[in-house]
Amino acid sequence: MRGPCGARALGALRSSDAPGPRAARGKAAGSFTCGARAVLGCALTARHGCGTPGTAMIALRDVHKVFRQGQSEVRALSGVSLDIAAGDFVSIMGPSGSGKSTLLHLVGGLDEPTAGEIVIDGTAISRMTDDEITIFRRRKIGFVFQFFNLLPTYSAEENVALPLLLDRRPARDVRARVDAALAQVGLGHRRRHRPDELSGGEMQRVALARALVIDPLLILADEPTGNLDTRTGEHVLDLLRDANRMRNCTVVLVTHDAQAAAYGQRIVHLKDGAVVNETAA
Ligand code: ADP
Ligand code: MG
Repeated sequence: MRGPCGARALGALRSSDAPGPRAARGKAAGSFTCGARAVLGCALTARHGCGTPGTAMIALRDVHKVFRQGQSEVRALSGVSLDIAAGDFVSIMGPSGSGKSTLLHLVGGLDEPTAGEIVIDGTAISRMTDDEITIFRRRKIGFVFQFFNLLPTYSAEENVALPLLLDRRPARDVRARVDAALAQVGLGHRRRHRPDELSGGEMQRVALARALVIDPLLILADEPTGNLDTRTGEHVLDLLRDANRMRNCTVVLVTHDAQAAAYGQRIVHLKDGAVVNETAA
């Protein structure tokens, strides 16, 4: 895995301090270390649903991404156009280097396309200010990554609380949402454990709880089972499917595993930065 990837992943949670061109222009975020433990002492609120079925959630129009390193260029995406409706579960498959992660990062506003347009929930990302994209990401998009990207010195519940704390949610909301999210992934009893006291599958379920805790419109999952054994991976995929079916959350799952991809209603195949085929699962 390239170095920037993990940092970028954490940036997805932290706010506008994410590395990358867009983040570099953003304002510095408040420290997430402030008050996590204090805030977690408190009480309740209700949850809301996510997404209106049938409406467009994601539209990519002739999206290109070229990475420049000195004199050399890497063409990661070459004219991708794709529509994903609210409530869809779409799997993106393709060999290593085909542009899957790049696509997910662009959709999540973690990086900007070199050309083309990306519209999320009715708004072109390019027309959003850095602060707007940061807030949108923090409130509407749940990210799940192959290597979990949990903060090692934080407990499970503190990791799950992080996006809410960054958003300065009232303490009582934080408590209730964290409880509900941990219960949903079946880890209420592990809430005080740190990542190094959890198995890989449990860490990924904590990461999933951290994505679910904001009641996201959209979950972007990049090889979430890539580091898990088959059975544990299936558990994580079942939870993603539950989020999709029960909360109507739009899910984009990047994977190179055909069995994982079959959880999607649609499977989009990428090769050399272009969509080469689409199949229904
Ligand atoms: P996948 O996730 O399908 O394995 P990626 O989207 O990570 O593929 O990468 C697509 C191509 O873009 C690869 O050739 C990769 O090396 C290149 N690439 C991705 N990110 C960067 C970057 N930050 N700088 C330079 N090249 C990159
Ligand atoms: Mg990748």
